[in-house]
Amino acid sequence: MDIDYKSFCKYLLTNTCSNIIDTGNKYTNCRILMIHHVPYANFDSFADLIHYLHFKYGFVDPSCAGHGKGLILTFDDGFQSQFDFNLKYLKPYGIKALYFIPTSFIKCDKLYLNKYLINNFKLNANNSCLNEMLPMTWDQIITLSEQGNTIGHHTENHVNLGSCICADRLHGEIIDSAKITESIINKKIDHFAFPFGSISNINKTSAKIIFNNYKYIYTGIRGINYHNQNIFYRDALTTLETKKEVNFILNGGYDIFYLFQRLRIKYLFS
Ligand SMILES: [Zn+2]
Repeated sequence: MDIDYKSFCKYLLTNTCSNIIDTGNKYTNCRILMIHHVPYANFDSFADLIHYLHFKYGFVDPSCAGHGKGLILTFDDGFQSQFDFNLKYLKPYGIKALYFIPTSFIKCDKLYLNKYLINNFKLNANNSCLNEMLPMTWDQIITLSEQGNTIGHHTENHVNLGSCICADRLHGEIIDSAKITESIINKKIDHFAFPFGSISNINKTSAKIIFNNYKYIYTGIRGINYHNQNIFYRDALTTLETKKEVNFILNGGYDIFYLFQRLRIKYLFS
């Protein structure tokens, strides 16, 4: 990661206090949930959790990111289980979600799927769900888009942008590949989530390209989002989380542990 620690420390000293004061004064309580594959065996219990959250807090349309209170639901990686879950449990309740698509996963030949899941998503080869982790089809992505969900970009090959420094490669992963999805759904893509989502998965060069090409940028770092923000923090959720655990997360239970990551990401995009 190409962080200049001297200037980062200076940035830290001048921003820490104002950040803490901000938390008290501008609390708008916008949290963004980050979900990956939804195992089919967990569909009913996860739907129960999502509906509970919807009635308690209310999911807002992700196309309004940065403009309001409430919860935003995001799904990473383009799994077919996410499409099936939407049709069965989100659409009937009018819940809109944001789907981040790595384009080469959608095009991946079935013969190489396991290899892709292990190499590109860094999943464990012993993961019992590997066989059901299929990609969505382009038709399913079009359907989601036509039904009012938002489609975002997630690089071409789900690469770690923190270790990727070649300008051509970064351009292809961040910009060119999104144009494929844009031409298929016939809409401009404004939302980008960088793969793996932590501070080590992005660097100054990739941050600059993302910032110059996308309106909204999503991390995997926990935290509250404020009005008019365009670099968002997200709360990772497993499909087995209890209501008590999720309430703890949404009330900022873990936020303090991510303070430095939030400051460093702001610095990277500054
Ligand atoms: Zn991902």
